[in-house]
Amino acid sequence: MPELPEVEVVRRGLADHAAGRVITKAEVMHPRAVRRHVPGARDFEARLAGQRIDAARRRGKYLWVELSGGDAMIAHLGMSGQMLVRPVGAPDEKHLRVRLSFDDDGPELRFVDQRTFGGLALSDVVEVDGDRLPSPVAHIARDPMDPAFDQAAVVQAMRRKHTDVKRALLDQTLVSGIGNIYADEALWRVKLHWARPTDRLTAPKTAALLDAAAEVMNEALAVGGTSFDALYVNINGQSGYFDRSLNVYGQEGKPCARCGRPIRREAFMNRSSFSCPRCQPRPASAS
Ligand SMILES: [Zn+2]
Repeated sequence: MPELPEVEVVRRGLADHAAGRVITKAEVMHPRAVRRHVPGARDFEARLAGQRIDAARRRGKYLWVELSGGDAMIAHLGMSGQMLVRPVGAPDEKHLRVRLSFDDDGPELRFVDQRTFGGLALSDVVEVDGDRLPSPVAHIARDPMDPAFDQAAVVQAMRRKHTDVKRALLDQTLVSGIGNIYADEALWRVKLHWARPTDRLTAPKTAALLDAAAEVMNEALAVGGTSFDALYVNINGQSGYFDRSLNVYGQEGKPCARCGRPIRREAFMNRSSFSCPRCQPRPASAS
């Protein structure tokens, strides 16, 4: 799944190329792409026509555009969803699912999704803690790049949890935007094993971990994100290249950049965790 930097890359593209434009026509080519829009594809098309895209927003890994009618269109990128800006008349992509046309006759906005785990949906908007959020996003915590992110409060909340530190990092109701890739990278930077219990971490160590997560995601954003899966692309279809800078994620057997020991892979929540056996020793309590 794309994480915060990959989603932010797409958001910036939408802010530059879609905001301020009026939709004349929405075409759903595959009903599965709007399955989260419960009233169905025809309703989705009818409600979008005539609306202006006012802004592109993101919280954590969640992306949406604000519409002039007061509702929002949420874009779930899933495993392979892409929001692409394409000239009118450009050949349809093989996996084109939704096309939006605009009254300026300028480039179309296309939702392309090879595996169809992603999709688009219209949603009402609610106010939470001073921010306007689509209701399905209302429970998602602020991410470390949010100007209103309250790090001290998140440190306290993490330390109150009796859980593994990586599980806490991935808990989108605690802190959002961090997934498997950037969690592993942040843990390596502060030399913590993923199974360390949060209630035994000091407040400064927990703060350092959140700082490391923000730092690694900022570095990834600067180079267009991680294209670990070649399907994560910006609105022009280009991939980022932070995968070249990964220290542990996907690096099993390669030498740790700090100490030279081979990076190990361990099973974690049906996926994998990558870490350095010397820099990030397993806690004695974990088996
Ligand atoms: Zn090491």
